[in-house]
Amino acid sequence: MERSFIISQGESRPKSKIFYSKWKRGSRQLIHMIALLILVGQLYRVTCDQTYLLRSLDYVKRTLRNLNGRRVTFLCGDAGPLAVGAVVYHKLKSDCESQECITKLLQLQKTIVCRDSDLPDELLYGRAGYLYALLYLNTEIGPGTVCESAIKEVVNAIIESGKTLSREERKAERCPLLYQWHRKQYVGAAHGMAGIYYMLMQPAAKVDQETLTEMVKPSIDYVRHKRFRSGNYPSSLSNETDRLVHWCHGAPGVIHMLTQAYKVFKEEKYLKEAMECSDVIWQRGLLRKGYGICHGTAGNGYSFLSLYHLTQDKKYLYRACKFAEWCLEYGAHGCRIPDRPYSLFEGMAGAIHFLSDILVPETSRFPAFELAPSQRDKKMQ
Ligand SMILES: [Zn+2]
Repeated sequence: MERSFIISQGESRPKSKIFYSKWKRGSRQLIHMIALLILVGQLYRVTCDQTYLLRSLDYVKRTLRNLNGRRVTFLCGDAGPLAVGAVVYHKLKSDCESQECITKLLQLQKTIVCRDSDLPDELLYGRAGYLYALLYLNTEIGPGTVCESAIKEVVNAIIESGKTLSREERKAERCPLLYQWHRKQYVGAAHGMAGIYYMLMQPAAKVDQETLTEMVKPSIDYVRHKRFRSGNYPSSLSNETDRLVHWCHGAPGVIHMLTQAYKVFKEEKYLKEAMECSDVIWQRGLLRKGYGICHGTAGNGYSFLSLYHLTQDKKYLYRACKFAEWCLEYGAHGCRIPDRPYSLFEGMAGAIHFLSDILVPETSRFPAFELAPSQRDKKMQ
């Protein structure tokens, strides 16, 4: 398909950004350190250069001193440094320190599963973000690092929360698992249902087949029916404006849900719509908002890599490479400077993460979201 480079204008100011700006300085500092930690870990992964592992250790120590107990997710809270810390210590054969991180991570679980808490379920600040931390440990260190019962408890809390809202909104028939963040039923990967369903479909989450078929699948199909004629997806169920083509809002996030649904349910419609998402991203996915991964070109590039993993079709690798080329000309396109220009999700660290993944596209993964393939998937490849 002809590449037209229509540049998405995007929302004037996303809700998440307003939310970020209210954070206390300590929280911002912690997120900044988590970003560095993830990036340095990534550079170690793609280069196998021990210097990066040792530098990771330095960041782990500094980050662990700054835990504040305010948030619980991988990306924005204490779970990230504890999970990455456990992996770094494990790689350095410091098993005691690694176990200490895991124990502290599991101590957060009480807050996660508490029925009365107002904790959301989405990825950035909610239960799905904590679930990612547990699954990350089991894929990076090995199955059983976090016991199945702990994972099940978190999965159940997410399922129960979705069922409750679905009943309240009288959507139990059409969308058995319904979620909201700040009273809005978001669709995308960061704050919405696509990110939550994606996490529930991970093999490491071990959600039983009946729940997947009876609860998750119809909910995915409900969201699918909200897609625009262009093939893009709305930012929330009530939004009818086909404007945003971001990982956080729109096709670049939903595509991950669709590719995972294809792997789990083996129905062609999911693959077909994922490919249509890819076409939308190819046409409209070079963003004026910048080069980051949340609402930037690098994040949109990851959607092609995800489809490349699934199909092995070089067309998607080509598309990812063209988006990487765009990111290499960093600052040359008149893009807006993000509020946090060096951050992982909005700024340069995310673009570097994407570019380093382009070096080894077969093993690429969107940070704090995609997991390493399971042993079974690896054997199938
Ligand atoms: Zn975003």
